[in-house]
Amino acid sequence: MVACLRGLVELESPSDNKAALDRLGHHLAAKFENLGGRITFHRQEQAGDHLQVDFAGSGKRVLVLGHMDTVWDLGTLAAMPFRVAKGRAYGPGSFDMKAGIVQAIFAIRALQEHHGRLPRAISLLLVSDEEIGSRSSRPITEALAKKSAAVLVLEPAQGSKGALKTARKGVGAYYVRVRGQEAHSGLDPGKGASAVLELARQLLVIEKFADRKRGITVNAGIVRGGTRSNVIAGEATAEVDARVSKLKNIPYLNKKFHSLKPFDKRCKVEVTGGIGRPPMERTEGVVALFKLAQRLARELGWELEEASVGGGSDGNFTAALGIPTLDGLGAVGEGAHARHESVVIPEMPRRAALLARLIETIPG
Ligand SMILES: [Zn+2]
Repeated sequence: MVACLRGLVELESPSDNKAALDRLGHHLAAKFENLGGRITFHRQEQAGDHLQVDFAGSGKRVLVLGHMDTVWDLGTLAAMPFRVAKGRAYGPGSFDMKAGIVQAIFAIRALQEHHGRLPRAISLLLVSDEEIGSRSSRPITEALAKKSAAVLVLEPAQGSKGALKTARKGVGAYYVRVRGQEAHSGLDPGKGASAVLELARQLLVIEKFADRKRGITVNAGIVRGGTRSNVIAGEATAEVDARVSKLKNIPYLNKKFHSLKPFDKRCKVEVTGGIGRPPMERTEGVVALFKLAQRLARELGWELEEASVGGGSDGNFTAALGIPTLDGLGAVGEGAHARHESVVIPEMPRRAALLARLIETIPG
């Protein structure tokens, strides 16, 4: 598994580099072809081609979902090479989520070796644009999910105990743009209408949209405005990260943002954007799937926990369609998107075993 992981990590695959992603896609396609999978590349002009692998088998298919892209630029390996130390494997994209892909390869192989052939139909979808919002892969993910009994997501597990993710917040960004009136700050102080000042006031209103009880958070993470200190600012913008734990909070939050009114009538406030990734709610279907995973893990000798997290994944799309989705089935480790990104190697075999047991046991 470590050798396989090394092969994947050393094929760097930033979301914005099609050539690099396609190299990794072909490397993986060859591996799955060896296992008897039928390869389909969903060709893309800008994004990397998304890789679908279908394995024939009885019953309604299980969709195993992952992504090939990482947040790391080409060349990161020079400063952050693949290495193994004290039972951990390090390297860009190791934890998020190449080790998860390795586990899927071994799970499918184990099922074939154990049964002689696969006990059920499996579709595996590895997309190339998850880290940048899954714009081009979303329709493919959704279409496949609709044909599936359940979706198993290879994203990293939560925490050092490797909890599965049974709820995720919906994620998006609102863009607030204020247009004011420019003027000389010294000669015509009364004439201009400062977009910066207006935006500052709006941000105090937006801050109050956050609601812990409803599971809504907002963060104006990026603010820009003005041109020079002696010019009353004509324009200012804010990019506001927004997260919701319930589907019904999306229209609620949209309404809030779109009802922003300027304090200074000479200013204009314009809002675009919204929640792009719906929340993954802990539905009955999700709970049933988790209970099954928990029982199977117990048979394998460990107590599986569940967690609800703020970050989104492609599992949010499939869960929002009502397809039972279990996320966090990938590697145990730490440091996603961080320099110390690493996976716990001894956890990998049993996570692969759990994935295999889920694939063969899920009803449908
Ligand atoms: Zn990921």
